[in-house]
Amino acid sequence: MFILLMGPPGAGKGTQAEKLIRDYGIPQISTGDMFRAAVKSGTELGKEAKSYMDKGALVPDSVTIGIVGERLAQKDCQKGWILDGFPRTEAQAKALDDILKEMNISLTAVLEIKADAKGLIKRISGRLVCKGCGASFHKDFRPPAKEGICDNCGGELYQRADDNEATVGERLEVYEKSTRPLIDYYKKTGKLYEIDGDQEMDKVYDDICGVLKKVSR
Ligand SMILES: [Zn+2]
Repeated sequence: MFILLMGPPGAGKGTQAEKLIRDYGIPQISTGDMFRAAVKSGTELGKEAKSYMDKGALVPDSVTIGIVGERLAQKDCQKGWILDGFPRTEAQAKALDDILKEMNISLTAVLEIKADAKGLIKRISGRLVCKGCGASFHKDFRPPAKEGICDNCGGELYQRADDNEATVGERLEVYEKSTRPLIDYYKKTGKLYEIDGDQEMDKVYDDICGVLKKVSR
């Protein structure tokens, strides 16, 4: 299973990825983790990435793509993976195609979780995070037993600065604009599957499993 998971912030990608990891025994590869690991292990590419990050500059595609290639060649990726946060542009998507071709791998599916903007704004702007353990709650959908207090560890709950309505609207617009060309690219390859993200989490997951069953036959 070689899966690309796409979707706007708040569409529940994290939850769905967790279920996929559990049921299919494949790792989730996120760009953030990949960068941190490369920098920590001090590979040539890691050092290069760090030099950009230290300056607060964007890491150029050539470096990012190199790091992705190194990561996907590792042992735990042989059975498959869920790639999250990469590719972000059409150029990166083409580079990923080249990497996979060299590895004799073809993408199983590109899953785009779609969700209504109004619902997303409500979901994200009500989100509460624990300062202690990082657990997340929601004002309406998953309220803590005691207001402002984490159920798990008793820590203080807070709202992330960019989780307010205005910022969320902007983030969704940026996502929509930057991702559209990528979605179109994968549509042409016939690998894109739209998943209705405005359903219960379990129902969303059922749909995802339905697609994966169909394409891996
Ligand atoms: Zn907590």
